[in-house]
Amino acid sequence: MKCSNCKTENKETAKNCKKCGTILNVDPIWSPTWKWHAKTLGIIYTVLIFLFFLINWFLKPYLREIPKEVTPWLQKAGEIHK
Ligand SMILES: [Zn+2]
Repeated sequence: MKCSNCKTENKETAKNCKKCGTILNVDPIWSPTWKWHAKTLGIIYTVLIFLFFLINWFLKPYLREIPKEVTPWLQKAGEIHK
């Protein structure tokens, strides 16, 4: 490829120009677009949410319910002082 600064021909693998040392910008083979990011994030979040419900469902028989006296704030206001 040719150097953008001095037009010297360099090796395709060269990172800097052999003559002037200018960094040769190599175009990436593939660069992700925002659509790719959105799609990938969507897949990751879907899998995570799915896994959360799957694990929740799977572990339900093994989980203990928290006793009501430990979490009085979860009870209705009228029931606390009974
Ligand atoms: Zn150069």
